[in-house]
Amino acid sequence: MKNFKQIYRASDNKVSGIAAAPGIVIGKAYLFTKEKLEINHSGITDVNDAKKNFKEALIKSKKELNKIFALAKEKMEDTRSAIFEAQLMILDDPVLIKNIEKRIEEEKKQPESIVDDEISKYIGLMKNSHEAYMNERAHDIEDIKNRIIRNLQKKRWQSRIVNDVIIISVSLTPADMILFSRCDVKGFVTDHGGLTSHAAIISRSLNIPAVVGAHDATQKIHDEDLIIVDGFHGYVIINPSQEQLEFFKQKQIKLIELQKSLDEFKDKKAITTDGREVTLRANVDVTGEIDIVKTSGAHGIGLYRSEQVLDELGEFPEEDEQARIYTNLASRIYPETITIRVFDIGGDKFKIGDYVEPNPFLGLRGIRLLLENPAILKTQFRAILRASTNKNIQMMLPMVTTIAEVRDAKKILAESKRELKNQNIPFDQDIPVGIMVEVPAAAVIAEIFAKEVDFLSIGTNDLIQYLMAVDRGNDLVSNLYQEFNPTVVRTLKHIVAEAQKANKPVSICGEMAADTLAIPLLVGLGLEELSMSPATIPYAKRIIRYFAYEDAKILAGKCSTCTTQEEVIKTIEKFFKDHSITRTRQII
Ligand code: PEP
Ligand code: MG
Repeated sequence: MKNFKQIYRASDNKVSGIAAAPGIVIGKAYLFTKEKLEINHSGITDVNDAKKNFKEALIKSKKELNKIFALAKEKMEDTRSAIFEAQLMILDDPVLIKNIEKRIEEEKKQPESIVDDEISKYIGLMKNSHEAYMNERAHDIEDIKNRIIRNLQKKRWQSRIVNDVIIISVSLTPADMILFSRCDVKGFVTDHGGLTSHAAIISRSLNIPAVVGAHDATQKIHDEDLIIVDGFHGYVIINPSQEQLEFFKQKQIKLIELQKSLDEFKDKKAITTDGREVTLRANVDVTGEIDIVKTSGAHGIGLYRSEQVLDELGEFPEEDEQARIYTNLASRIYPETITIRVFDIGGDKFKIGDYVEPNPFLGLRGIRLLLENPAILKTQFRAILRASTNKNIQMMLPMVTTIAEVRDAKKILAESKRELKNQNIPFDQDIPVGIMVEVPAAAVIAEIFAKEVDFLSIGTNDLIQYLMAVDRGNDLVSNLYQEFNPTVVRTLKHIVAEAQKANKPVSICGEMAADTLAIPLLVGLGLEELSMSPATIPYAKRIIRYFAYEDAKILAGKCSTCTTQEEVIKTIEKFFKDHSITRTRQII
């Protein structure tokens, strides 16, 4: 039988991109376009006909939304489905409808032009309000406006609710992906995006194979094409030949066998052949993932990206609501621990207000944004504290650059604790506080930071981005996003040594921890705790159980003297070969 290389070399019906989430899926393509509607502003002669069209468009939009609402209630939490309920209410708003009808009569213009103008006025007001909640609602209303206009133009409804397809899109937001995942989407392919863009991370969390950064995928792939997504190698095959189809069906069977064999590792420890135990924790980005964490054999949650709550709800939840969410998570994971990272917003994630930053990844992001908005941070601190009574929560600060930021955040934490005490609300007085080491400034003086906090967690996704000066989500420079560059290896080595000097635990929660090739290196560098997407935990266990820590230390030593990324990779590949460890890609 041919191997992957031969199959790909022979085929001109493929597009290549970045392997963002592993797996192989075969299915029908669904081109998802956020269509820009062209509005016809011309005049009309028949007012009654125009009003009738408008009424019909309203009825059609309502029908569509009712369908979405019913499905949302079935698949999502109430809080999220409520968005659609609110949209339905707008369609019934008598003032809005009257206004539009009146203007059609008076101005004698195409109804779509009046609908656009009238509803855009509201949207404008909401967008200008500088409040995150209002801003999000503005998006909902925009959605309604486009729905009515599309129905006035009698265009086909590009429903997002299509089951069992592979979504092809120019780009996707994490929120798009969460929504699609609830429609049993089989895979994702995007023109833009890099390995550690948040959309890629979410697809890994959801365990949905994905290829990102595929440049012209949306040009080459058509709706309904049969396609194969290879999330291991980063290829998409369009309308495969019989031979290709057979090849990948065989691979899928092998993959299922592999996954079954991995089950045996679930209850085993991640321990090297010479007895060093590595703690494997889970990264959680999507609420539903907690069930997978429990079955994956993870020791609790090493990174809970709390900002996902904002993506799911589309707003900042009140303190009570946050306390409910965190209490629920902490009790479900008990007696294991959960590390809640306070909102890491800004950058390519959820934003507050409508300001535009020329370099958002170097801008108001993470702890910087929270310290600018202390009320948000305090609400979250109070909510986390209220959920901490079982003493199984740790807090983590993202994007920390200076010691002053840690001290300022701690002042707000102390205030929150004081308030709760005065209100007789119980909490864990000694809740551990740590930082993400993801900015080079923090990496260089990690020892000083380690003295200020209870633990360090290395965020390689951002650390590599900032070390290499390469946007983590930009496929044009993805060749420079080098996980195995000696700069990265030496920086990791330095951070671990600095944490050890301060006698503080250090872990890694970036995607590098989930790269099976990186695991012996990370263990050899002295990391005792790795946090990764739950689905990758059995793979990591299988590898760790195959080598000795002493050998991994020698490997790490060799890698830190390498000159190029290629040399580091070659050195690690030799280690795998010498220890007869096979990687997933070689097995299937
Ligand atoms: C990281 O930067 O490595 C990390 C874990 O955080 P995020 O990917 O959410 O930025
Ligand atoms: Mg980060």
